[in-house]
Amino acid sequence: MSTLEQHYQQVSQRLQQACDQSKRAPQTVKLLAVSKTKPATMVETIYQQGQRSFGENYLQDAQEKIDALQHLTDIEWHFIGPIQSNKTRPIATHFHWAETVCRDKIAQRLNDQRPADMPPLNVLLQINISGEDQKAGIHPDEVDQLAALVAQLPNLSLRGVMCIPENTQDDAALAQQFQAMQRLFQRLQQSYSSVDTLSMGMSADMALAIAYGSTEVRIGTDIFGARS
Ligand SMILES: *Cc1c(COP(=O)(O)O)cnc(C)c1O
Repeated sequence: MSTLEQHYQQVSQRLQQACDQSKRAPQTVKLLAVSKTKPATMVETIYQQGQRSFGENYLQDAQEKIDALQHLTDIEWHFIGPIQSNKTRPIATHFHWAETVCRDKIAQRLNDQRPADMPPLNVLLQINISGEDQKAGIHPDEVDQLAALVAQLPNLSLRGVMCIPENTQDDAALAQQFQAMQRLFQRLQQSYSSVDTLSMGMSADMALAIAYGSTEVRIGTDIFGARS
């Protein structure tokens, strides 16, 4: 087994252990393998191990891989980088998920540019749950308004919310942010039956995020190695 395959297996095991600790079934937490900057050959290696969902941040880099791996018909591409309005078309035409929607205009453009022969684009609203000034995402108070817009756009499917919490070692601060996300997610689920995804947790905070109900963890470096 290659180092890459070993790392993938280790991450899968850690995910399973975190689910055990939180008394959750492992199939309730999806692993998103964040393959940004890594070559298509590495993506395919992990795919052969059973991985289906991959996260990308940079459009050109992603598009090359998506084109190269078209023969993998059940692979699922998630866009997780910042979305500028001049970048919505390639996201609408190449991806299955957009996880970082945080403006009305972006939602509208993704809807308008989604090809008619593709299923609706799955959308997560990015939440600035730590309230840091420089951070992308909407304020929790703005969720209802943006959710209502996305829910009525026919070519989008409102699936849930995502966050990148504060970069801190302070577990109590992190737990507070994850709990706020969990409450927001549960509240949204009561209004929209399509909502089933809470994307939070990365390498360092996977177990804590799972304890607070995460349904998708996004892991890059621990699978693919450091990015140069
Ligand atoms: C890069 C990235 C990740 C993965 O980060 P690693 O530190 O490589 O595990 C997760 N989520 C988002 C939004 C990212 O941009």
